[in-house]
Order: sequence, then structure tokens, then C-alpha cells
Amino acid sequence: MTPDDFRRYGHQLVEWLAAYQEHPERYPVLSRNAPGALIDALPAAGPQHPESMDRILADFEAHIVPALTHWNHPGFMAYFATSAAGPGILAEFLAAGLNANAILWKTAPAVTELEQVTLAWLRDWMGLSEHWFGLIFDTASIGSLHAILAAREAAAPSFRVEGSGPRLTVYCSEHAHSSIDKAVMAAGIGSANLRKIGADAEFRMRPDLLEKAIKEDLARGAKPCCVVATVGTTSSTSVDPVPAIGAIARRHGMWLHVDAAYAGSAAIVPELQWLLDGVEQADSLVTNPHKWLFTPLDLSVLYTRRPDVLRQAFSLVPEYLRSRENPRAVNFMEYGIPLGRRFRALKLWFILRYYGRDGLAAMIRAQVGWMAELAAQVEAHPDFELCAPAPLSVVCLRHRSDDETNRHILESINAGGEIFLSHTMLAGRYVIRVAIGNQNTTRDHVQRAWQLILNASSR
Ligand code: PLP
Repeated sequence: MTPDDFRRYGHQLVEWLAAYQEHPERYPVLSRNAPGALIDALPAAGPQHPESMDRILADFEAHIVPALTHWNHPGFMAYFATSAAGPGILAEFLAAGLNANAILWKTAPAVTELEQVTLAWLRDWMGLSEHWFGLIFDTASIGSLHAILAAREAAAPSFRVEGSGPRLTVYCSEHAHSSIDKAVMAAGIGSANLRKIGADAEFRMRPDLLEKAIKEDLARGAKPCCVVATVGTTSSTSVDPVPAIGAIARRHGMWLHVDAAYAGSAAIVPELQWLLDGVEQADSLVTNPHKWLFTPLDLSVLYTRRPDVLRQAFSLVPEYLRSRENPRAVNFMEYGIPLGRRFRALKLWFILRYYGRDGLAAMIRAQVGWMAELAAQVEAHPDFELCAPAPLSVVCLRHRSDDETNRHILESINAGGEIFLSHTMLAGRYVIRVAIGNQNTTRDHVQRAWQLILNASSR
């Protein structure tokens, strides 16, 4: 592509994206495509001869866009809603153009050092001390896998060399994210050695049951290795009692990992900093700016107070990657599995600077307020119940009748194209989740979702 063509089509795409942002509601939030429709619409074999950008872009509009579910749509209120803020999109554009790859500090000093700078800013805003070392991965699933591998290294270094060791056990609440199960499986600890600890009536891990499970495992000769506490569980955003869990972990010499993938961002809001109470005793913490900090996918941060252990678990430097030692030149490849590292920190830097802590906190604070209002409306309604406390940006609600009615409400709303909701099970019952986090979502959108739920329930 010549620089002139690049300029021409680049301008065209910026125009397209600006219009997309101006009218995010132009498309139905959920794709109306049937499974396989895009595969059927595209040629089975790749083009033998070059095709023009005009044709490629026309097909993008005709085939790709209809096959998208629009995370940037303000009516996207399913799972944990997210959106890509403008400064982050522009930074991604630059990062792709620069194509910097920080396999080593010297192959891209800016990639490594901007990661250090932005993660220190974010750490301070979240109220964490300067003892935390941070690095970026694509997802929380990978960050948590690294944390559990570090915990395994601390408990049983023989795994790294021999691929075996004592029988390790890991603990998390029954509401922990499935990424923890996968990490335990991938780490070779075995899902049978993951103890799911029961929760209280507000879906928080019960420390007394944790203590009991650890004692039982010790009596059986297992070696308790790691506890995972969740700050902001996926189903209900409940917050595990980290101070009590941390005290137990310390008493038994275990690694404490905190999964704050969703709620960690909210800790930049001064009055929500309680979310991370007790986290200073943890060994690692994962948080996803790509969830609730308006950062385009993907950018997840793993912080650890024990980078030495992470390094011990992963450092392996072949001759062709050797470089002169300099304590200021950090080679992140020594702290994890990936060698190649793309310039993810650039988008975080753009976002942190463009909005500032106050701007980001104001967006999160407003969303929390709209959801508190919705929670109060649900509680006051005779036909609905609030199924969990709603301290953040998710309201779990349920029509008082039965699971089938609630399923019907959800399906009829999702068929409308205006709002996209998802569900979960809490206390064995089907629950509708209304989750916001998208910067385009306003109080009006939340109220509209509530109205649609009420309408659907009366049909
Ligand atoms: N942890 C929690 C609490 C989550 O809710 C999620 C995803 O929603 C994850 C981890 C996994 O995040 P990722 O998609 O970045 O792996």
C-alpha cells in the first residue's frame, strides 16, 4: 500500500469510526445473523489476486458489520459491559502502525517503560502501595494463570523442573470466575484440587469454611498453595472479605491472589476504595482496564508484590535473547510466558491522560449512582425482587414468579435489538443481570431497560 493510498483509506476509516461513535444505536445491539451466515457469505478460498481496498471496505460494511454484536452500543448491558473510548482507539491505531515488539527492553524501550509508568499511575490511583510490580497481559484469565503458576512455584518449585511435586490445593469461592478453574487445570494442579468454598447470603466467600477446608486438606496430607479472593464476582459483583481471607492465607503460608478483573477499576473512585481493603496482604491482583476503564480490548494488568517469585517461575534466557544486564532495563519476558509484547500501554496512557483520574472516576461514579437508583426501583416494585446487593454497576433482579417467566422476559428483550441483557443463577434461581460499563450508556438507557423489563413481564 502506498503512503498516499494509506492516507486516503485511513481518512475514510476515521470518518467511518467517527460516524459509528456518533450513532452507536444505528445497529441492533445483538447481531441478527444466524450462526454460520458470515461463513456462508464469504468465499471458501482466499483471493488468488489482489483486491481493491474499495471492495474490501464494501464487504466489511455488507458482511462484517451485520455479524457484529455491538459492545459499543449503549444498550449493551450483558456480562460486564465495556466500550472503547476514542483516545484508546487512536492509540491502538498508532500501536498497530508502529508495530513495536518488546521481546526485550532494547527492542522497544518505550513499550516497556510506558508500561511501567502507566501501571504505577494506575496502582497509585487504586490506592495500592509502591510495593506492587505490574505487567500487562491480554486477559485476566492469563494474568490469573500466571499468578497461580507463581503460587505453585512458591509452594513447590519441583514442578518447574520435574513436572510434579506435592499434592497442592487451591481455594476460591463458589462464585469465582471460571478462569480460576482453567488456571488450576492448566497449571497441572488438577481441578479436583480446587476447593470451591461456600458463600454467605450475599455471595461472599465464608472465611470459616475456608479455614475448615484448609484444615481438612492438611489432615489428608495435601499442601494448601493458593487462595483466590474475588473483588467483584461475575454473577453479582459481591466482594469477598479479603482482610479475613488474607489473615488465613498468611497463617498457612499460602499465596493470596485477588481477582479484581471487573471491580479493580472502581477503586480509583475515592469513595469506592474500600473495595480493595485488605489487598495489601495479597501476593497478586488482576484488574482489567478493558472492562471498566473504557480501554479497548485487550488490556489486563497483573500486579504482584513478589516479582521475584514470578521471575523465578518464568525466567529462561536463551543465548539469542541475552542482553547486557542493567537494572533499569526490565525484560518482561522473564516474568511470564509470552515473549512478544505489543504496545498495549499506549492506549492506557492516552486514556489516563485524556480523562484524568477525575474524569474516569466521574464516569464510574455516575454509573454506580444510576444502578443504585435502579436497585431501589426493583426493591420497591411488588412483582420484582433484588437478588443481590448492588454496590457497583450490576443489578441482579428477578420477577417473583418462576424461572421460566424470567427467561421469557430476557429473551423477549434481547429479541428487540435495543437492549442486550444476560442472566446468571443465584441461590439456585434464574436471575436477570442488568450490567452497565459502557461510556455511551446514560441514566435514560438504564431507565429504558427497566421499562422494557416491566413491559415484558406484563405480556
Ligand atoms: N475474573 C472475573 C471476576 C471476570 O468477571 C472475568 C470476566 O468477565 C474474568 C476474570 C475473565 O476476564 P478475561 O476475559 O479478561 O479473561
